[in-house]
Amino acid sequence: MTESPNANRIVFIGAGNMASAIFGGMLESGYPADAIVATSRSQEKRDAIGQRYGIRAMQDNLAAVEEADVVVLAVKPQMMRDLCLSLRDSIQARRPLVISVAAGLDAATLDTWLGGDLALIRCMPNTPSLVGEGASGLYANDRVSAAERQLATELLESVGLVEWVEEEAQIEAVTAISGSGPAYFFLFMESLEAAGIAQGLAPESARRLALQTAFGAAKMARESELAPAELRRRVTSPNGTTERAIHAFEDAGLAEIVSRATHACAERARELS
Ligand code: NAD
Repeated sequence: MTESPNANRIVFIGAGNMASAIFGGMLESGYPADAIVATSRSQEKRDAIGQRYGIRAMQDNLAAVEEADVVVLAVKPQMMRDLCLSLRDSIQARRPLVISVAAGLDAATLDTWLGGDLALIRCMPNTPSLVGEGASGLYANDRVSAAERQLATELLESVGLVEWVEEEAQIEAVTAISGSGPAYFFLFMESLEAAGIAQGLAPESARRLALQTAFGAAKMARESELAPAELRRRVTSPNGTTERAIHAFEDAGLAEIVSRATHACAERARELS
């Protein structure tokens, strides 16, 4: 029995990377451990979760759902159909808020698999959630109440930024910008590191300088009142060193490359859904 009777009971189905990032963040934000349950098929993992997080880890998905106010579906997309069909009766009996973090599965499909007429939120998180610096895009179907939206915001804010979209199709744009975005920045860091090595820096120094510069620029941009374009102008003196580099990026069509890459990403997300 829970000792925090006023806290919504959140059940995570599939205690992998994304689920543990979210419940880890919730615990750090002060959410009561006795109101969080995670399910896993492996005894070893259940023991590890209990020890590390102090939450209840269960094997039986149906038993877990029977006590849930919120069910977070966090298995791989290809496992989702079978999982939903197996949960259907319990979900329909209990009718919790359902939050899916699975990439590429739309709300109507999930709702159908789960028996229909549910309050359902689709979330597109990203990997920096694993270090508490995620960015999630959320879409709610029309059965979700304002209080449930607020609850989902609180859950996902415990691992980073939350942005709501009003049209489900906008989730593809979220995928193209923040869902896949960490890899774009990793690619840029990788290129900067390689360029540093090519210009004679020791490999470890090139990596450290590239990573710290990415981190510093992101922190500065996030903390500043100014738009990134203005921050860039302020560090680009006329006829100076930075200006030469920026011109080289512009001549190579960087903005156009980013536009094409993100459109290709959104297109692929549509193909998969
Ligand atoms: P993961 O493999 O780490 O976690 C999935 C877990 O679910 C595993 O521990 C697996 O054993 C468990 N599982 C599978 N079937 C189960 C069942 N029937 N009952 C109970 N547990 C079951 O995967 P992940 O990286 O955490 O991804 C989970 C979801 O998050 C995916 O749908 C993915 O699309 C989404 N997502 C992940 C990321 C990311 O950065 N990792 C980003 C965006 C979206």
